[in-house]
Amino acid sequence: VRRLGPLGRAALELAVWGVPVFPVFAPTGPGRCSCVSADCARPGKHPRVRRGVLEATRDPDQVREWWWRWPGASIGAATGSRFDVCDVDSEAGADAVRRLLAGEAAAGPMVRTGSGGWHLYVAPTGQGNRTGFLPGVDWRGRGGYVIVPPSAHAAGEVYRWVRPLTAERVPPAPAGLLAALAGPAAQRREPVRIAVEVTRYVQVAIDRECHMVAATPAPPAGGRNPAGRGRNDALNRAAFNLGQLVGAGLVDEQTVRGALDDAAGRCGLGVSEAARTIRSGMSAGIAHPRPTRAGGRR
Ligand SMILES: [Zn+2]
Repeated sequence: VRRLGPLGRAALELAVWGVPVFPVFAPTGPGRCSCVSADCARPGKHPRVRRGVLEATRDPDQVREWWWRWPGASIGAATGSRFDVCDVDSEAGADAVRRLLAGEAAAGPMVRTGSGGWHLYVAPTGQGNRTGFLPGVDWRGRGGYVIVPPSAHAAGEVYRWVRPLTAERVPPAPAGLLAALAGPAAQRREPVRIAVEVTRYVQVAIDRECHMVAATPAPPAGGRNPAGRGRNDALNRAAFNLGQLVGAGLVDEQTVRGALDDAAGRCGLGVSEAARTIRSGMSAGIAHPRPTRAGGRR
């Protein structure tokens, strides 16, 4: 019988509790990542599987297989189904949350992150991801994920439970937090009503865009031909289109970035050129969230 290490066992336990999980590249030292990229922008934070959080699963066999193959992989846990997570990055964020809660204790599971922040686990709210809904505070909801203990952080520490997650139901979000989430900024990113349908919609969109990038031919050898720009243009277009889905809160930025990276690699674009194109295309797309038939109006 093949044994699982501590990360594999923790991932399996989550899956059994109904939390969809997937493997994430682990940090290999301060600021370094187990991925092949020389200057990884998100060491220890990006998915090890191509579609990222969209491949998250509760299937114990799949989880075992992943962590047999990559025993050191960090654990990504999908948010939005068993729990949402209030992701507090800084002291300023912690202050903002304390003020909001005004004595109302957040009693649910809590993680001290490897970078000195906190993850507060609450019952799912139906919200998508929200970056900076309070200063220094992000929301990880539908379409998002968090890194869970005992994964390591590139800063050198490991994520650890302050109050553990158990098989029991996670308590609802404190009223103060819900109110902040429903604030004026929230109006721009409506909760999407049919999560399953959205996931499929996003998955189809990612596959389509990545296929188009991967299928764009390299320019003919020695050609000073406008086709030379073809692959970069295709990548930029795909990054913009998928960035619009990220902007609409339908999918996590890292998932899209991972899929685009992979597609760029398959059509032979250089790593740093591709990274630049993906970054700029996605930022433009995120700034123009796509209205979708499933909700997510601007
Ligand atoms: Zn990396």
